[in-house]
Amino acid sequence: MLGNFTYDNPTRLHFGPDALERLRDELPAFGPVVQLAYGGGSIKETGLYDQVVALLKECGKTVVDDGGVMPNPTAERLLEGRDRAREKGVDFILAVGGGSVADYAKAVSVSVHCDEDPWERYYLRFEEVECDVVPVGCVLTMAGTGSEMNGGAVITNRGQKLKIGHVFGPEAYPKFAILNPELTFTVPKRQMVAGVFDVVSHVMEQYFSGEDDNVSDYLMEGLMRSLVASSRAAVADPRDYEARSNIMWAATWALNTLVAMGKSTDWEVHMIGQAVGAYTDATHGMTLSAVSPAYYRLIAPYGLPKFARFARTVWGVEGDGCTDEELAETGIAALEAWAREIGCVMRLSELGVDEGMLDGIAEAVLPMEGGYHPLSRDEVVEVLRASL
Ligand code: NAP
Ligand code: FE
Repeated sequence: MLGNFTYDNPTRLHFGPDALERLRDELPAFGPVVQLAYGGGSIKETGLYDQVVALLKECGKTVVDDGGVMPNPTAERLLEGRDRAREKGVDFILAVGGGSVADYAKAVSVSVHCDEDPWERYYLRFEEVECDVVPVGCVLTMAGTGSEMNGGAVITNRGQKLKIGHVFGPEAYPKFAILNPELTFTVPKRQMVAGVFDVVSHVMEQYFSGEDDNVSDYLMEGLMRSLVASSRAAVADPRDYEARSNIMWAATWALNTLVAMGKSTDWEVHMIGQAVGAYTDATHGMTLSAVSPAYYRLIAPYGLPKFARFARTVWGVEGDGCTDEELAETGIAALEAWAREIGCVMRLSELGVDEGMLDGIAEAVLPMEGGYHPLSRDEVVEVLRASL
């Protein structure tokens, strides 16, 4: 049942092949010194870097180069970015890249004027932002995380073997996001399908929760059906604009908080995936695909009607005369077969996990309450072992 909620998403979003042009409208609102955050170099190869720098210069900005943000950005890199922003007196941060760059930019934005160590304040103690926040804008080059229109920022601490997401409030959302699906044509297939599984996982972790008749569940079934069809089309032809644009838009809606309004949510798969990531630095979406079948098989008995509905509505299973148990298994098997078909990693051992790491990984999983069956530590180990 939908109770009280406030829906507020302060990110303005520009979508489509000409979206980058809208930087000209957005940039004048911010100060002159712009920290340009980007990843390992894909934007230089594609020519996007030159285009963005030209637009920044045209708008009279001084560019502080902040390249080399790694996938799964680290706490050390966050401190480097924070120090660079302080030293150069940065007025605005423009993130050009995937979720890692967007998350990093948001984490820097709430750290520049914060007197404490941001890892300890935001990631170990989950405290709110009290300082001024440097505004962030985002030019997205890869679909998946939804970071372009939410307050999430996931940071990894390699020394402490922890990968943690802090969901900041509206003050840390990007002020604007630019989404040109054509920019995603060059994303390597492995990253593209990892991004797609990340999106499906965001949806499932909000869908498999609650027993009420909730409009969000109907929206999420539509998102999942679109993602299954579009991912197949994009694998067949990486330059299929229709498929790429559907994936990109679905990714934003999967995690821009809309479908979570008035609904309980799970997030256990992300907690397990992040703990795996802390140990292996594996690609985020692949950590989720590798553990999802075992996780959903374990919790399905506690939420059978929703799992039966998932099989029927998302996978088109008719299932006349089948029990809910049979339908649930058919739906999970369909999910697994589709993920394998598009090229997701389905075994943790392929991501570098071995038996000796399981207890440590399970220890790093933050407990979640909102799903059909909160896992005990032993059950987390059971899911990990079944996923090896
Ligand atoms: P990513 O780590 O940002 O990027 C993965 C790889 O794709 C990078 O090597 C990057 O190369 C490359 N790439 C990106 N765009 C490209 C393009 N157009 N052409 C060619 N290569 C391209 O991937 P992501 O999945 O978007 O982000 C993952 C991170 O986000 C993880 O840390 C995950 O935990 C986090 N996450 C955040 C949220 C949230 O709500 N904020 C939700 C889920 C996950 P370059 O570095 O060279 O650009
Ligand atoms: Fe994710």
